[in-house]
Amino acid sequence: MERAYKVYAITNGTVIDHIPTPLALRVVEILGLGNEGIFTIGVGFQSKRLPGGKDILKIENRILLESETDTIALIAPDATINIIKNGKVSEKRIISVPDHIYGVMQCPNPNCATNKLGAHRHFKLEDKQEMTYRCEYCERVTEIIPENLTAPE
Ligand SMILES: [Zn+2]
Repeated sequence: MERAYKVYAITNGTVIDHIPTPLALRVVEILGLGNEGIFTIGVGFQSKRLPGGKDILKIENRILLESETDTIALIAPDATINIIKNGKVSEKRIISVPDHIYGVMQCPNPNCATNKLGAHRHFKLEDKQEMTYRCEYCERVTEIIPENLTAPE
């Protein structure tokens, strides 16, 4: 196992590994973790898989829902999720981009009802390979841009 696991070992919770540097804070934001729980971020670990380095996010005493870990796939499609119970990995979760995105993504169309009238944001997956989504209101198709993701509404 990699040294990083030992340095910040947690007993119960969720470990998200292989987040491209420096996106761990974006993951914290889109999960809305800023105000809850204890989390630890390691930034810029060396990684064979990610030449630009990887971040590791550990969330103590919180098992992320599958809907939450799939949201992580939007900005870190190669992230690995380990659920830790009693100091051991109890589940390695495969993530994939979600079919629907609620809340966390802003429509790039300034005239969209979600931007002008405060309608609830909702995107449907358009193309899995290209990672594009279609807005349910104005039908604008957009790529995932990590900077355009926000905390849940
Ligand atoms: Zn729209």
